[in-house]
Amino acid sequence: MEETEIKIIEEVEEVGIKTKKEKDLDSWIPKTDLGRKIKNNEVIDIGFVLENGLRILEPEIVDALVPNLEQALIEVGQSKGKFGGGKRSIWRQTQKKTKEGNKPKFASVVVVGNKNEFVGIGKGKAKETVPAREKAIRAAKLNMIKIRSGCGSWECNCKEGHSIPFKVTGKSGSIIVSLMPAPKGTGLKIEKECGKMLELAGIKDVYSKSFGHTKTKLNMIYACFNALRKLAEIKGR
Ligand SMILES: [Zn+2]
Repeated sequence: MEETEIKIIEEVEEVGIKTKKEKDLDSWIPKTDLGRKIKNNEVIDIGFVLENGLRILEPEIVDALVPNLEQALIEVGQSKGKFGGGKRSIWRQTQKKTKEGNKPKFASVVVVGNKNEFVGIGKGKAKETVPAREKAIRAAKLNMIKIRSGCGSWECNCKEGHSIPFKVTGKSGSIIVSLMPAPKGTGLKIEKECGKMLELAGIKDVYSKSFGHTKTKLNMIYACFNALRKLAEIKGR
């Protein structure tokens, strides 16, 4: 009995309390024309922005238009294991030798998406891990695309958006990644980090093939993003 009473009070309190994100948007002073239009509710659709090739120069634009954006950290680094075998890490660490000694730097790669055709990727670098991640999130929001999902699988042929409409291929460094339509229930038959990206884009079923040194996760994930780019619809370009 007591428990339910407490719960009700919490619910009442939550009404009227703005989330941090909402507060941030209230205090946002747009610096670009597009930003001002969004703040004034003249532009309310992220699809309109991306389909018309309008450049997003402020991450708040994405915060305002895509409220249900999710993010995933990509394992791009390798922390040295005690016995040589490296463990995958979300931080990619580099050392810079200076007179004062070794100065480590951290790089982070983040994928953002709304699980419904909007997806972006960004990289951030800083002396510490948290600012590196924040930079990466910011960069990912400025680097969003709208893809076209579909079902190009002849085995399935359902016309729903659970897969992709046709085969696409992307390249980064020496790595080539091909994504192919797959029937419902296949799942994401792809390397784990690329799978995170496809999931955030809202794609549930895909076959894939990759060539090159696929252990280089950074190129792998960028090759995957470049493949997804081929599904992006841009008018007037
Ligand atoms: Zn289908």
